[in-house]
Amino acid sequence: MSEKPIFVTQPSLPPLEEFIPYLEEIWSNKILTNDGPFHKQLEKALCEYLSVDHISLFANGTLALVTALQALRVTGEVITTPYSFIATSHSLLWNGISPVFVDISPHSFNLDPHKIEAAITPKTTAILPVHCYGYPCEVDHIQKIADTYGLKVLYDAAHTFGVRDKIGGISRHGDLSILSFHATKVFNTFEGGAIICPDAKTKQRIDYLKNFGIVDETTVIAPGINGKMNEIQAAMGVLQLAHVDKSIACRQEIDRLYRQDLEGVDGITIPEKPNTAQHNFSYFPILIEPSFLLSRDALYENLKSRGIFSRRYFYPLITDFPMYRGLPSANLSNLPQATDTAQKVLCLPIYPSLKREEIESIIKMIKAHT
Ligand SMILES: *Cc1c(COP(=O)(O)O)cnc(C)c1O
Repeated sequence: MSEKPIFVTQPSLPPLEEFIPYLEEIWSNKILTNDGPFHKQLEKALCEYLSVDHISLFANGTLALVTALQALRVTGEVITTPYSFIATSHSLLWNGISPVFVDISPHSFNLDPHKIEAAITPKTTAILPVHCYGYPCEVDHIQKIADTYGLKVLYDAAHTFGVRDKIGGISRHGDLSILSFHATKVFNTFEGGAIICPDAKTKQRIDYLKNFGIVDETTVIAPGINGKMNEIQAAMGVLQLAHVDKSIACRQEIDRLYRQDLEGVDGITIPEKPNTAQHNFSYFPILIEPSFLLSRDALYENLKSRGIFSRRYFYPLITDFPMYRGLPSANLSNLPQATDTAQKVLCLPIYPSLKREEIESIIKMIKAHT
């Protein structure tokens, strides 16, 4: 029994004394929100860090998703994945759009591009894939389908902070990509989010939409929402950015230790590392196969009883919840791969302050069942 519970993640926080000067600056300049100095500074710094040209910050990732769909004028039906956090498809319902669920690929946790075309109807206007666990989607294949059928592509890139391929940041793909800076993510502003925009005009329109659609004192151009990031969040982001590389390096080391000790264990499949130039090690998913001594749920409960709170991301599937399960595409026979993965997956604790002894004891507890 470990003394204190170990959760799947622990939010990264910079030393408190480093944050005080930022607060003093906000208190002295009295700009609390609405594109203040820290907001501007964070947008600029994130563009550099993520190697993108335009970004619009949000109060959270869900408001960014909802606004991105509005900005692209997406309507009718949107093809998406059942294997994600519920916010992905909730953003469609919030816009009066019908989700159409397509299975994930057997080789990744992401939307299977080979199954997308069969789900397209005359009402389809967009594809909303997720780069699950920061593993990049098959972006070229998805873009080709979108180009052929004249569809928009909006990526839920909530898990991809800092993930790069040989050319640049993963969040540059698609018509728009959204990020989340929630407390549980690799980079956090307590709550926060962003839309990566391809050009200045799109960013301008998104900036209007996240501020009620207000252009100036006498002009409102759309029923926009209040999605603005405030100055405390933005200041936290500026400070967190200085620590994020160190934090990703710690995660990488934890990933290495888990792999080294769990690779080859009977009944456990460890997904291959993604083929990226830089990964962010945001999650450590393993698959508990039927050949393991315990069922996935029994292992989950067993760890929990010893104070280790792993998570079954993503179980249940989005399509299991009442607002989705009646849809024809939510039928299990349409989603064999996602169903199988949701029954096997277990995400192990991974966060910078996780101690080596803690990792070793988690590995020991798992191996005790082999
Ligand atoms: C965290 C997350 C979101 C939502 O972001 P919030 O900032 O919590 O609103 C959306 N999609 C995925 C895949 C996420 O993991």
